[in-house]
Amino acid sequence: MAVVHRVMEFVLLALALVSKVTGLNPTFWWPTFPDGGAYCLSWRLAVEANNLRAWRTVPPQCLFYVEKYMTEGQYEKDLNLVIDQIRTYVNQIVPSDDSLDAWILDIDDTCISNVGYYKEKKYGCDPYDPVGFRTWALKGACPAIRSVLGLFRDLIGRGFKVILITGRDEQTLGRATLDNLQTQGFVGYEQLIMRTEAKKLVAEGYRIWGNVGDQWSDLQGEVSGNRTFKLPNPMYYVP
Ligand SMILES: [Mg+2]
Repeated sequence: MAVVHRVMEFVLLALALVSKVTGLNPTFWWPTFPDGGAYCLSWRLAVEANNLRAWRTVPPQCLFYVEKYMTEGQYEKDLNLVIDQIRTYVNQIVPSDDSLDAWILDIDDTCISNVGYYKEKKYGCDPYDPVGFRTWALKGACPAIRSVLGLFRDLIGRGFKVILITGRDEQTLGRATLDNLQTQGFVGYEQLIMRTEAKKLVAEGYRIWGNVGDQWSDLQGEVSGNRTFKLPNPMYYVP
């Protein structure tokens, strides 16, 4: 079995190299996955449902599947469906005038996208690279996720306080993150805090109506809010 696995890994690596050299999407000349993508769909579903935890890398046989998912429209469709659900819920809430009605939004792969970075990391098939990620984040060039930016603006327009929460290191990435958010249109939020500081929101008396993030760890814990919304992310797992 180990030999079969090795051979499979070698074939996939060769395909990835050919794809890199020719610039062609592997699915162009290898149109079907060995099992029609069934295993990788099951894997992704288990990831999104939080049944699969503490995984370190995307399985190598799912490289092309995840690439296709992230770049050919399904990721955006899945994202948009969640945003539609959020809007339906938001429309039922009437904020009071004490300025304490709040929403929590995560930053990475919620407000702004790292797909461009993960493209160079085989969409998560390569292990987490803290130095590489820091270099990328310091560029402050993560594009906005359009549907989330639209939601962000609507929430503020409707009188909610939007609180951005991140696990990024404040000392090294604080400035670049603030600049990145600003250039991408995330302007007018109430505060940006570290995930470890989330508890203070309760002390400050905020009513957290909703919490949006791409990781389950964004949504669990003491300050999860009335409703949580999990955005898709099959590329990496943050405990
Ligand atoms: Mg995130």
